[in-house]
Amino acid sequence: MKNRRDVLFGLGAAVLVGGVAPLGLVYRGRSADPPYDFGRIGPSIDGLPVEDLRCTAGTLTPRQIEGPFYNPKTPLRGDIRDPFIEKDLLVIAGRVLDPQCRPLAGAVLDFWQTDHAGRYDQHGYRYRGHQYTDAEGRFQLVTVRPHPYTAMSLLRSPHIHVKVQGPATPLLATQLYLPDAEELNARDGGYDPLLEIRYAGQDGPARRAIFDFVLATAGPTA
Ligand code: FE
Repeated sequence: MKNRRDVLFGLGAAVLVGGVAPLGLVYRGRSADPPYDFGRIGPSIDGLPVEDLRCTAGTLTPRQIEGPFYNPKTPLRGDIRDPFIEKDLLVIAGRVLDPQCRPLAGAVLDFWQTDHAGRYDQHGYRYRGHQYTDAEGRFQLVTVRPHPYTAMSLLRSPHIHVKVQGPATPLLATQLYLPDAEELNARDGGYDPLLEIRYAGQDGPARRAIFDFVLATAGPTA
C-alpha cells in the first residue's frame, strides 16, 4: 500500500535526478512486467548457509514502493557488480518460499540498486539484473553495498530494490535494508526491520548475508 511518504520518495527521486538530466530521459515510469521465463531454473547454489535461514509459516515478506528507477529487460545474471569496482563486495543468498515455507523453484528475482555514489544507472544496467531460483528455491546475488541518497530532502537509507515472482504467484516489489546502517535506517520512513538482510560472516573479500522471501500465493492453499 502506498502512503504519502511513498509518493514523495518516488516524486522526490525523479525530481532529484531531473536536476542533472532531462526528466524525460530519467523517468521511465512503470512498464509492463518483463517477460520472465518461468520455465527456467537457476543454477544450483553451493555453500549457502541454510542452517541460518528461517521461515515463519504465514509471515509474508512486506511489500514496498517500486520507485521510479526500475528498468525493464535487465540482464540475466546473479552478479550485478560494476566490473571496475571491487570494494564493499556483498553476497546475499537465500530462498524464495511460499507461505508454508516450501521452496519455489524457478521464481524470478529482479534486483536494482545504487552505486557507490548513491546513483542509479538510468542508461544501462550497472547494478541491475534478474535471476531464477534453483530447484530448491535458492538464489544468490553478488553485488556491492548500496549507498544512500537524498530526494527532496528525504533521506533514503541504503537499500536494494527487488521484484520477486514465483511461477504461480503475484509479483512482489520490495526493498532490502542493511542491519549496520542503524542511524540512516532510523531516519528513513521507508525502512522496515522485517526487510533487513542478516550478515552471515565473511568469505574472503565478500561479506555474506542471507534473506528469505516469502510470497503470497495467488489462490487458496491446499
Ligand atoms: Fe531506491
